[in-house]
Amino acid sequence: MPRPIEARIHADALAHNLSCARRRAPDAKVWAVVKANAYGHGIERAYPGLQSADGFAMLDLAEAERVRALGWRGPILLLEGCFEARDLELCSRLNLWHVVHHESQIDWLATHKTTWPHHVYLKMNSGMNRLGFSPQAFRHAWQRLSGLTQVDAITLMTHLSDADASPAAARGVAHQIEAFEAATHDLAGERSLCNSAATLRYAASRRELRGDWVRPGIMLYGSSPDFPHHSIGDWDLQPTMTLRSRLIGTQQLQAGDTVGYGSSFTAEHAMRIGIVACGYADGYPRHAGTGTPVLVNGVRTRTVGRVSMDMIAVDLTPVPEAQVGSEATLWGLGPNGSRLPIDEVAQAAGTIGYELMCAVAQRVPVHAA
Ligand SMILES: *Cc1c(COP(=O)(O)O)cnc(C)c1O
Repeated sequence: MPRPIEARIHADALAHNLSCARRRAPDAKVWAVVKANAYGHGIERAYPGLQSADGFAMLDLAEAERVRALGWRGPILLLEGCFEARDLELCSRLNLWHVVHHESQIDWLATHKTTWPHHVYLKMNSGMNRLGFSPQAFRHAWQRLSGLTQVDAITLMTHLSDADASPAAARGVAHQIEAFEAATHDLAGERSLCNSAATLRYAASRRELRGDWVRPGIMLYGSSPDFPHHSIGDWDLQPTMTLRSRLIGTQQLQAGDTVGYGSSFTAEHAMRIGIVACGYADGYPRHAGTGTPVLVNGVRTRTVGRVSMDMIAVDLTPVPEAQVGSEATLWGLGPNGSRLPIDEVAQAAGTIGYELMCAVAQRVPVHAA
């Protein structure tokens, strides 16, 4: 029998979450962002649930090829654009739209030989200071692109650094929206500004933010971009990935007994614990300390002691009937309608749902649920 750990991907939940994005931005088109191998879900596994998107966005050219290989004939967008001039050949061959965020990418386009002109996304750095043209340089870049026979459509885009900020935070989205509006108000072309947080929080009520295309990623995968301010329940999102395993051992502890490396947990009184076949080599976060939520047979309990490479220990006090073979849900959907949002596990480990789902290890088998 293989080791009992597995990840399960819920296509119906992906489709549900995509429909939530659409509901928030009813008159906009939706890019399903599938970078990082569909946020760790596997592009091929996620695709059936996301097929009703208007397009797929990612960074890797190899991932774009995989989406085409699945038979997708609609738009595909490379969010970081080309990394070198010859990447444009693949863009021409597979009809990929690509972001232009730097002068050198315009130089490459100007010398590219293609029969079909390209659709590009011209990116403004409106304050995040990662990629993009400054508001002052934006118009010149737009004019240069407009003059190229290699280009037939320019969408204006920017990326928001603080769309998930708590309402009390000093920086929200206003300064970036103003910079974008001021520099683009008289330029032709579609617009795209919203990631998941902006789609959920602003797209429904603010036309100028919604634009023509929204770019949700994390919300499609059942994690709330502004947790703990909002949970997936608040946003009506569903978990799309379940990481589950089984108990492979149990121990009866007496008061004073310790658990695991470093003896970081000491039992205050007699208690039973279970040992789950899941550790940091499976992608479970090592920083998740005692008290991280976990489900056993669908009952919520907590981890105790340090996460080791292949195992974690869980408190069986609320599940006295648990035995070797009992199901442990590390995140996602458990038995009998139970669920454990990935965001709660991430918070206990001092990280975010994005990182946990992207980090599920190669050795964990992934199955369609
Ligand atoms: C990753 C990414 C997104 C999606 O972000 P989420 O927070 O996952 O919704 C949108 N736009 C760009 C440019 C990105 O790189």
